[in-house]
Amino acid sequence: MTAAADTPPWTIVIHGGSGSMRRGVLSDADDAGGRAGLKAAIDAATAILSAGGPALDAVEAAIRVLEDDPHFNAGRGSVFTAEGRIECDAAIMDGATLAAGAVAGVRATRNPITLARAVMERSSHVFLAGAGADGFARAQDIESAPPEWFETAERRRQLDEILADPDAPFDSAMKYGTVGAVALDTRGHVAAATSTGGLTGKKWGRVGDSPLIGAGTYADDRACAVSCTGAGEYFIRLGVAHEITARVRLAGETIEDAADGMIAELTEMGGKGGVIVVSADGSGGWAFNTPGMYRAMATHDAPPEIAIYGDE
Ligand code: ASP
Repeated sequence: MTAAADTPPWTIVIHGGSGSMRRGVLSDADDAGGRAGLKAAIDAATAILSAGGPALDAVEAAIRVLEDDPHFNAGRGSVFTAEGRIECDAAIMDGATLAAGAVAGVRATRNPITLARAVMERSSHVFLAGAGADGFARAQDIESAPPEWFETAERRRQLDEILADPDAPFDSAMKYGTVGAVALDTRGHVAAATSTGGLTGKKWGRVGDSPLIGAGTYADDRACAVSCTGAGEYFIRLGVAHEITARVRLAGETIEDAADGMIAELTEMGGKGGVIVVSADGSGGWAFNTPGMYRAMATHDAPPEIAIYGDE
């Protein structure tokens, strides 16, 4: 028996958003910074999974790294609303129990994913929004952060550009950058987590798919775990994360076929974005219809694979 065969399988796949990232368009600094952030996040999850820790801890740990990294549109580095504020959304789901927690419009909590997990584990609810969600964080002693923690000069510049010309051609690299993680642990449980600042210049309390269980985030040990990124309005209407899970569980599709099938439906509808998936038997992967997607994967018998562009 080989050493690998003795090791119970584990898998982690993460994303840092899909969009119009192309070679030569993304600056060298953003390319390197994005890859370093993905590597740090996958390392955090790997440390937990390789020690036999839970998938839930692994996805939360990976997301916390990306939320604290200003390269990504989640936590610190989130995009601005039209009013010049930052409002974060996040969700987490446990495939073993179908327990889930989500928050939307959070403005004062450093790691929205940790707050989503607290909603799942320490409240009788699934989804809290706005000031109430931040209030729950304070009541649970979850770390807060002032507005300046979340704000970066580059995101402010992007907002100014959009406000100066709201009809300019849609640049998805500018508007997106959500982060997500899906994992299988050595006990055979899957988990999914997603966190985002949403869309640059969003108004009226707009919430996308990321924190909606079944749209941007879903996990079920009977099938797989899914996290999405892209134009949330399309992902919500297609119920992408749950439908991928249902295709695997009820129709017996592979995760590749289920993910490709939903991206084909998204494309047909006019939507752009991507998904990451880990199946309960340990296979992991992604599908996207944008030029690029920040993404990385590691398993019990393969070192981290990190990629941004569609051709790698
Ligand atoms: N899906 C996110 C939203 O619509 C955005 C993204 O993935 O970049 O809020």
